Amino acid sequence: MTFHCLGLRFIFCAAMFWGSVFPVWAKETLSSSPASFAIQQRSSINPLPGSRTTVVVAASSDLHGWLSTDTLFPEEEKRGVLHIAPIIKQLRDEYPHLILLDAGDILQGSPSAFYFNFHSPAENPLPIVKLMNHLQYDAVALGNHDLEPPPGVLQKNMMASQFTWLAANLLKTGEGSSEGDPVLPPYRVLERAGVRIGIMGLLTPGTSMWVNKSHLNGMRIEGMFAATQKWVPILKEQEQVDLLVGLFHSGHNFRYDQYVSLNQGVPVANASGIVADSETRFDLIISGHAHRLFPKRKTSELRHFRTPLISPGFWGYGVSVVKFFLKEEGARWQIEKSEYSFISASPEPSEQLGSMVKADMDQVRQYLDVPTRVVLHQLPSKENFFQCGADLSHQAILGRDPERSFSLFPARWRWKKLLRNELGAPLKRLHLFRWLPYDNFPVLSQLYGRQIQILLDPYLRQQRGLSFRSNSLLAPGGFQAILSENEDGASSTLKHMETSLSLSESFPVWMSNYHWNGGGGLVGEALVHPTQKIKEIGQTLRDLLFAYLQRPAKLSAACLTFLKNDYVMAKIR
Ligand SMILES: [Zn+2]
Repeated sequence: MTFHCLGLRFIFCAAMFWGSVFPVWAKETLSSSPASFAIQQRSSINPLPGSRTTVVVAASSDLHGWLSTDTLFPEEEKRGVLHIAPIIKQLRDEYPHLILLDAGDILQGSPSAFYFNFHSPAENPLPIVKLMNHLQYDAVALGNHDLEPPPGVLQKNMMASQFTWLAANLLKTGEGSSEGDPVLPPYRVLERAGVRIGIMGLLTPGTSMWVNKSHLNGMRIEGMFAATQKWVPILKEQEQVDLLVGLFHSGHNFRYDQYVSLNQGVPVANASGIVADSETRFDLIISGHAHRLFPKRKTSELRHFRTPLISPGFWGYGVSVVKFFLKEEGARWQIEKSEYSFISASPEPSEQLGSMVKADMDQVRQYLDVPTRVVLHQLPSKENFFQCGADLSHQAILGRDPERSFSLFPARWRWKKLLRNELGAPLKRLHLFRWLPYDNFPVLSQLYGRQIQILLDPYLRQQRGLSFRSNSLLAPGGFQAILSENEDGASSTLKHMETSLSLSESFPVWMSNYHWNGGGGLVGEALVHPTQKIKEIGQTLRDLLFAYLQRPAKLSAACLTFLKNDYVMAKIR
């Protein structure tokens, strides 16, 4: 192990960790953040005979920048940091030593995060980071979506964070002696209520399949189990922690995305469950990324894995709470009993925190309120809505790049019902955020007909009534994929106008950077090579669609079942 921090003073040591990857950032971060890291040789805590104490851990996960979902989904149950703040305040009043953690994906995934990441060049951190500082979060695990915005965004927010960002398996690459050192602190040690608690963070290795390669320059992601084998002994034997908590941005079910990971040659993306079964020196594992909530009710036993594993849900629907009741045994702390529960968010946002971000939220509301020139005149059927989404995606990219004719964009937008009181009103930018939650950037590549055919496999499975993964369902744009079934099985013929496309010829095709990078596993199956990329544009598909709908847009038959251009509406009136 090339690890050199042992025994060095922490400032020098942290500079060694961060210096070469983020040279400017490291210097400033050291003076403003508790994230500095060095292994300590500590002596154990020896409680007095017969002592008892309680340690309480509260955790959120996958907040995705949400302050309050009220900005986008006023008719739905309220979620977001402003709604979990009252619970956290109550817990802190009751347990002043509360440990507050988050399992990652903070900086991307809501209109507010998008607006401040892309449209507001201010030096300020995201509003959610301001609020998490105020709530006194102790540590967060770095999530794949935190690496998705332009690299400067993560840097800016980390510098402003008063909590520690953890990722024990995000390692430096390169020739120097620092090769293999962690980029961020692998763990944080806290002492609360006379107990020493180690919190070790991990990032899903699947990140390298989903974010742009340039965002991981100089870094690689090690397998999660390998990282625990390196750091758990240090935490137990050198740091002498009494309680060990794994804060993992990775799902519990290793089978999900396992095939895709194998295909792309990256370690298993969802390994929290495997670690929980094989590394029992953890007392608790907090698993994020999968947007799962477990347990939903209070219980004193979690039996799914050999180590208790909880998942705190997503978007600030509430917080998971774990109470450890400890007693002295053999001059060390031992867990006598644990209790796991989930407290739902308050429907009312915290007034105090709301006033801190009021100006930010007003800006986001204004941004979402900008109308398109397309009016809703009917409520759509699901089928027409999906078809219209695919048609519009293709037309929006054609508007940008008229000489290119093909696209493979997601065939299904998120199905969020339109409301009767929206009839007769123009679609707004906020509708596009409801339907396209991801910040996907179009990528143009030169693909062979055979590769296109493979990328359309899920689409053809859907047409045959077979199962398919929804995140890999792409729609043919600008050409048709016609299903043909014979004795040898099913296949497809690709056609443009009336001409069949040769499988051995190549064509320029637009797709999302998520699918291009490996999301859904399609490009791995189709053996798409990085040299086939022509270009990526710096505007999201959502932004292209909004710009397209601000002009008199050409609407397909499916779109016309529920949308009209407003200049047509004016004539009808
Ligand atoms: Zn994630």
